[in-house]
Amino acid sequence: MDYLELTVLGSNSAIPLVNRHPTSQFLTLANRHFLIDCGEGTQVQLRKNNIGFGRINHILISHLHGDHFFGLVPLLTSLHLLDRQREMHIYAPAELKKVIQTILSASATWLKFPLNFHPLNMKEKESIFEDEKIKVHSFPLQHKLDCCGFLFEEKARPRHIKKSALTQYNIPVSELKKIKQGEDWINEEGTRIANEALTDPADEPLSYAYCTDTLPVENLRDFFSNPSLLYHEATFAEEHASRAAETTHSTARQAAGMALKVNAQNLIIGHFSVRYKDLTPLLEEAREIFPTTELAREGHKFIIKHKKQELELG
Ligand SMILES: [Zn+2]
Ligand SMILES: [Zn+2]
Repeated sequence: MDYLELTVLGSNSAIPLVNRHPTSQFLTLANRHFLIDCGEGTQVQLRKNNIGFGRINHILISHLHGDHFFGLVPLLTSLHLLDRQREMHIYAPAELKKVIQTILSASATWLKFPLNFHPLNMKEKESIFEDEKIKVHSFPLQHKLDCCGFLFEEKARPRHIKKSALTQYNIPVSELKKIKQGEDWINEEGTRIANEALTDPADEPLSYAYCTDTLPVENLRDFFSNPSLLYHEATFAEEHASRAAETTHSTARQAAGMALKVNAQNLIIGHFSVRYKDLTPLLEEAREIFPTTELAREGHKFIIKHKKQELELG
């Protein structure tokens, strides 16, 4: 799946409702998979959405309020019972390592697979994962507890080989990779063929920024800009702005303001307070400022493909 797909597993704030669960999301970008936050009941939500546990090798936890990690140890225990052998990477505040160890040792569970724990830097933007296709950073948010956002970015994508070039020049397959990376090609007669004659421009890389449990961060643009998709919490409507400030959360209007600030292409809002049975007013409030906004809802898949860079519902 060579595009961006985000499945919402939980959209609610602290207390679950029958059809609204604590925060968790499953992201696929350039065929890499990430579980982002893991509130209570996440493994059931994974089952409901047909997401195989085996696809999860990287779990990111934003902060240590229970609605973001109380589903983690049960998920790890299930993986153990399912005989998982492969290493699991967890990126989380340092204190979580002890919490996991304490619960597992109290229940005499000795995991069959290695846990590779990566403590987050809660104060500064930091690289936490990188391979040949993508890079992931954490960055600090502003919440009661230390809390990190996450930025997932594709690296520069390969240029497209022109069909006409393939027929016109007899380019050996072994040369294609270098040409897609922008190099000129020197043919068998020693003639240099400019890359522009052989390729069309690459697609714009896709990116996803995740900002949960935070006041509006004035300097958010220092951490990223122009994401294809921004998730920003909107625990409250603007009429409860003082409650949002007291509890270090954001309103739907503020979330939309942040999307403008970082020049996002699309916005999803979530982490809704249980007080809102109907979420339409929050959506309308955000759309007044930022029209391409959607609500995070359980089981919704949000897809962005390279050519259009528009949000589609899967
Ligand atoms: Zn929360
Ligand atoms: Zn919180």
